[in-house]
Amino acid sequence: MSIKVRFAPSPTGMMHVGNARTALITWLFARANNGHLLLRIDDTDQERSKDEYEQAIEDGLRWLNMNWDSHARQRDRGDVYDTKIEMLKETGFLYPCYETPEELDLKRKSQLSRKLPPIYDREALNLSDEQKQAYEAKGRKPHWRFKLMHKPIEWDDIVRGPVKFSGADLSDPVLIREDGSPLYHLCSVIDDIEYGITHVIRGEDHVSNTACHVQMFEALGAKPPIFAHLPLLSDKDGGKLSKRIGSLSLKDLQEDGLEPMSIISLMARLGSSDPIEPFTKVDDVIANFDLSKFSRGTPKFDAEELYRLNAKILHELSYDQVKSRLDDLGLSAMDEDFWLAIRPNLTKITDAKEWWQVAKGPVTPVIDEPEFIAQALDLLPAAPWDENTWSTWTSAVKEATGRKGKQLFMPLRQALTGMEHGPELALLLILIGEEKVKERLLHNKKAA
Ligand code: GLU
Repeated sequence: MSIKVRFAPSPTGMMHVGNARTALITWLFARANNGHLLLRIDDTDQERSKDEYEQAIEDGLRWLNMNWDSHARQRDRGDVYDTKIEMLKETGFLYPCYETPEELDLKRKSQLSRKLPPIYDREALNLSDEQKQAYEAKGRKPHWRFKLMHKPIEWDDIVRGPVKFSGADLSDPVLIREDGSPLYHLCSVIDDIEYGITHVIRGEDHVSNTACHVQMFEALGAKPPIFAHLPLLSDKDGGKLSKRIGSLSLKDLQEDGLEPMSIISLMARLGSSDPIEPFTKVDDVIANFDLSKFSRGTPKFDAEELYRLNAKILHELSYDQVKSRLDDLGLSAMDEDFWLAIRPNLTKITDAKEWWQVAKGPVTPVIDEPEFIAQALDLLPAAPWDENTWSTWTSAVKEATGRKGKQLFMPLRQALTGMEHGPELALLLILIGEEKVKERLLHNKKAA
């Protein structure tokens, strides 16, 4: 079977980690199976859909290096929906309802107070033609519901296993608004049929929608696709993703300097039985991707885990792989030796700026023991320097002062960088260069 999937975002907000995950899993499934990915923009909500969100979604996907094979927008497909709507009206699957939102709300409240499930009571099915005309005469426009068949609904979900619903336990979904515009359920099902979607991968918040959709596929004469409902991410303690983290947009992560590969590596494995690994090549992620390994358990999203993964991935990247991004950060002067020296100290690529600053200055040296530093300065080997200079120098300082370990190295590091941690000093010494090293070691004298 040739596989065709779709990622169907609504352009009503920024793309956040949760929908980026659905997008990535859908994309990986397509690529791992030589399938086709349709990017479908679900913009039936004309009030809330915005071009800028659509743009941000596409930018986010491109940043993650996800490509799609075709593209559709629901707002361009009104004619297709109209034809199918006529068909569903003719076959009696769509029926007009005249209740106002307030009347529906009252019904719901009264059902709940009687401890009944708030299922639509189908009162509109009993309306006579005269009653409908009377509503119309009063200026009411109908919304249209899909008449669910009261029979079992079953599917075998890739993630959830066998799922069972009963049509009688569900409210007939509204498919057309009072203004005649079709709603998500209808457009989604029609598109899934028309585009020949074989697998629908989406969040588990859609499970009960799917129960209705299964019957809608049948009503439209089509076989339902295979479904995979992914559990929604929780925060690291298992709670609902907080607003702050839940709304962590791809743009925020991009601006923070995160590697796309760390998001891909995390999302390809989080919630699956495979361990999370730092991948540097997307082909390796694709080759090892298996949708059937995803389980129903709620995956915990921990931003710190993402950053740890980011550090590991960054530590593997060659100078060539990062050169253009260093340029973007204004670090075009950074050469390969510099990159290799600071790479192990980076959590994200933007940290490179900090180490550039430490090497090139200005920095404020921290010198608590001026005499010791003065002694060290006297013992500094003459240039030219190489990677052995540091050990030659510190051996001489050790010999002369009797210091060793932290007592020897920490004051030197603080004098040279103003910091207590950082890249290997043997490398850093060369990157700082003789002139600046001397200047920094002399700092206190100058200040004095
Ligand atoms: N636009 C829907 C959403 O963002 C798509 C759900 C689906 O994949 O069908 O939730």
